[in-house]
Parts: sequence; C-alpha cells; structure tokens
Amino acid sequence: MTFAGCGDAFGSGGRFQACIHLRHAGLEAPVLLDCGATSLTALRRCGLDPAEIGAVVVSHLHGDHFGGLPFLILDGQFTRRAAPLVVAGPPGTGRRLTEAIECMFPGSSRVRRRFEVSVVELSPGGTAAVAGITAEAWQASHPSGGPALVLRLAVGGKVIAYTGDTAWSPAVGHAAAGADLLIAEAYYWDKAVPHHLRYADLVEHEREITARRVVLTHMSADMLARQQEAIHETARDGLVITV
Ligand SMILES: [Zn+2]
Ligand SMILES: [Zn+2]
Repeated sequence: MTFAGCGDAFGSGGRFQACIHLRHAGLEAPVLLDCGATSLTALRRCGLDPAEIGAVVVSHLHGDHFGGLPFLILDGQFTRRAAPLVVAGPPGTGRRLTEAIECMFPGSSRVRRRFEVSVVELSPGGTAAVAGITAEAWQASHPSGGPALVLRLAVGGKVIAYTGDTAWSPAVGHAAAGADLLIAEAYYWDKAVPHHLRYADLVEHEREITARRVVLTHMSADMLARQQEAIHETARDGLVITV
C-alpha cells in the first residue's frame, strides 16, 4: 500500500490530504482508501494511475477525505476511461458526491459517462463487499453531515483497519481487533481538540488496540513536530508498506 496522501485538511507539513492506495494480487484493480481533494496530484506524484482505480472506500464526507472524487471521475471522463468505478461510503455518499461534482463543475454530474460510477452506501454496523474487498463499518465520533465511519477492510486475507477522523471511540478497538494493520489518525499530540484522535488517546487506550501494526496519519503541524517521540510508525506522503 502507498500513502499517496497522509496529511490533514490544511496541508500541514506540505502533505497531501488522505489518499491511501491499496494493491493486492487478489484484487482486479487497486482500491483507494479515502480520496481527499488533492488526491489526483498525490497519486500522480507517486506514479500511480488514477484511471486504474476500481473502487474508493470513503471514511466520511469531509472534503479532505472525499473531495477528490469529482476530479477522479472527471479525469476518467476526459481520458476515456471504460472500467467501472465503485464508490463506497457512509449513508449520503451518493447525494453528497453529486452535489460536490455539480458545485465544482456545473452540469457535469448530468453528463453521460463512458464508464459506470456506482455508489454503495455503508451504514455503521454494516458490511459491504466492494471490488474484491469486504468493508465493515462502525460509527465514528466525527460530525460530517452524515455518519462518519471507522473501517475494517479484509483484502486478500489481510485485515486493515482505519480510524478515519474520530474522537476516541471503542469502535476503534473493535475495528482494529487482531488486524494486520491499523491506520490511525493522530491529529494532535495531546491538545484537547473535539472530534479528532490525539496521539495521547492512542497511548491511553493502547490495551484496547490489538492490531499487530499501527501507522499514524492525518497529523497536524503540532503532531508532526513531535512525531519522533511517538513509539508508533508514522506515515509520510509516498510511503510504501507491505502488510
Ligand atoms: Zn473529517
Ligand atoms: Zn480529515
């Protein structure tokens, strides 16, 4: 997997917004985990072809997590993409995606496309099979105009959990139980901020997190300045890991 983008919403540290690219021999096409507004640039900088992506799993409907979808879809239109694209996200994803496309490129949501874009809405407590992966979702604690999700993805026998953005919630422990990897938000080191995970939360709840490996992401400037003090691995744009 490639952390094409692992930044927060505001470009802290010059990083791109959330965009994690998964590739597995058992998948027909690569899958994206979140697609922030900067994702096309982030993917191309890593030499990854946006047109190859078969599915995007979205944690929640904030621009730094799904705002790249209008560009991804329009790029497919202009490059004569033929392969279908599946977007899986929380309830409301279909409507919000149409609104985002229409807001940024008026008229383009109604253009007849050469490739199919289908939306799978995944409710907290639900499971969905998407493009060869199984996605299970829990309710995150993060207002975004719809439920935000903590995700657990089964990809070819490996389990990857992802907090998305959330205040600490037992859902993180459930989603990450025995997982091969937990991708965890660490927005601030220990400053009290609402609706987000701090590194201090992950340390405090360490015993509830039984994932074999943890990689920190979505770091603010505050957290980036202290990341050397963290005992967990930290992501950076372009980081490639094998799970
Ligand atoms: Zn968010
Ligand atoms: Zn975010």
